[in-house]
Amino acid sequence: MELSRSVWMRRLWSNHLLLLNKVTAATTPIYSPTIPPLSPPRLGFPASSNRRRHSISAAAHTPIPTVGNGIVDVGSKKVLLKGLRYGDFEKWVQSQGFRPGQALMLWKRLYGNDIWAHSIDELEGLNKDFVKMLSDHADFRALCVKDIVKASDGTRKILFTLKDGLVIETVVIPCDRGRTTVCVSSQVGCAMNCQFCYTGRMGLKRNLTAAEIVEQAVFARRLFSDEVGSITNVVFMGMGEPLQNIDNVLKATDIMVHDQGLHFSPRRVTVSTSGLVPQLKRFLRESNCSLAVSLNATNDEVRNWIMPVNRKYNLALLLDTLRQGLRSKRNYKVLFEYVMLAGINDSMEDAKRLIDLVQDIPCKINLISFNPHSGSLFRPTSDEKMIEFRNTLAAAGCVVFMRLSRGDDQMAACGQLGIPDEIQVPLLRVPAQFRTVLEASF
Ligand code: SF4
Repeated sequence: MELSRSVWMRRLWSNHLLLLNKVTAATTPIYSPTIPPLSPPRLGFPASSNRRRHSISAAAHTPIPTVGNGIVDVGSKKVLLKGLRYGDFEKWVQSQGFRPGQALMLWKRLYGNDIWAHSIDELEGLNKDFVKMLSDHADFRALCVKDIVKASDGTRKILFTLKDGLVIETVVIPCDRGRTTVCVSSQVGCAMNCQFCYTGRMGLKRNLTAAEIVEQAVFARRLFSDEVGSITNVVFMGMGEPLQNIDNVLKATDIMVHDQGLHFSPRRVTVSTSGLVPQLKRFLRESNCSLAVSLNATNDEVRNWIMPVNRKYNLALLLDTLRQGLRSKRNYKVLFEYVMLAGINDSMEDAKRLIDLVQDIPCKINLISFNPHSGSLFRPTSDEKMIEFRNTLAAAGCVVFMRLSRGDDQMAACGQLGIPDEIQVPLLRVPAQFRTVLEASF
């Protein structure tokens, strides 16, 4: 899920506008960003939406391509080390005639602080025969850095080229409270077609392998730990719907939290979903990592439009699944994310409905300012209205935060990742009652 990051207090909207106005001047691109400019959306509501109606139902059942099995590299036939959980990693090392202790030494060099080995040349201190075996049979890299772009607020967006030439994006978000978050992608593009999300315009190209996911976190530490300090949190809120790639996401999180390796706390690894109910049940059963659910509406009418996944798994089913699933969890709160769209989901009636919807679910609520992007129909809720909305929730006893927008001047913020092709997934037909609101905002 693209609705990223942990909790920040939000800056004033005036600062946000200032950032948007300083897109070029205030930034420090390390390479030239390949980012399209903001442009006004097509007004009039797309006639094409009926011709190429996006089907979440079909997306949920169609096998999603990946590259090979994610364990053996398709081209070289070598084993992808970062695609193995520790148990399988150790078994593989033993199958090659080496001891478990050597597996642990290698694991620490791949994931341990200050090493994050990316090649055979970085494996100091290992037995020569072991290194020779690795050179013949193991692959260390799944990603290649294509671009790094730095936004004016210190957020970094890394563009990675995959071995099949596709490109994904990862965002590193420093926070002044000694915490830095890496926002990882789980798919190339996304099939969910959320109407407020730029990545959704790409459609889905393929799932990422566990190695491709894990290596985003490894790269973040390798590239930026010296500059921004320890990278403490991971959020699966980059490109893609993580739970549509649940096997690889669960494997990647297991690797990330291993205490001899990257050693992220499970509570600091957050997997976000748009609401794929069967996979959500599995995640709650099998994972100790944190969960975020992108809610964004308080009734099915609006959610069916802005998040078409709701047509298959509606609000009542989604929330009931959470109620049931959280019963077996101790001290566990789901994070509801709520992107505020002016005139669409930000009324006081919405605030009251939201209070009712979540009242018996252990949760926190994150209110997120909408980040505009090329072709988007929506506008952000004003500061004043957002604060009023927040205060209404807080007065009812909800734990509620407002999230600072980060990296928006380099298209690195929530809902802004990806580079859609010329032919994009079409936007859905706008319900009649919202056309006036949208037209009035332009
Ligand atoms: S389309 Fe929806 S699920 Fe997919 S990346 Fe965007 S917000 Fe996340």
